[in-house]
Amino acid sequence: MKNLSKYFSFRELTFSKIAEDHGIDNAPTPDILEKLKYTASQLDKVRELLGKPVNISSGYRCLQVNRRLGSKDTSQHLKGEAVDFKCELFGNPKQVFDAIKKSNIQFDQLILEFNSWVHISFVKEGGRRECLIIDRFGVERVK
Ligand SMILES: [Zn+2]
Repeated sequence: MKNLSKYFSFRELTFSKIAEDHGIDNAPTPDILEKLKYTASQLDKVRELLGKPVNISSGYRCLQVNRRLGSKDTSQHLKGEAVDFKCELFGNPKQVFDAIKKSNIQFDQLILEFNSWVHISFVKEGGRRECLIIDRFGVERVK
């Protein structure tokens, strides 16, 4: 048992190389921490679906970190609702994206980004189950 959920630790969901490199405090507020716990509990379902370790590259981002990454101020990463990850022992990002899309996991958004990683977000009210593929040509909504 890790400290946020069965499979995920606080560090995995809050670590930011950019924050570390620039001395930015990327600690979540108590409200955001509650959301991170929910996000981690939902990610447990993804971990169990894939059956292999999930490697998170970006979870919570404070505004400063998010802006440095060139992400929009409306990003769900700011709210502790979104995570970017890979699961290389399961397959490439497209295979991971397809497996989650086919599952009954109640995500809010599932995005295959630049064929390089998968972004997934969760909201307590249930999710829209919106699936998008983003590449250098733009955004495509998929079913
Ligand atoms: Zn993301």
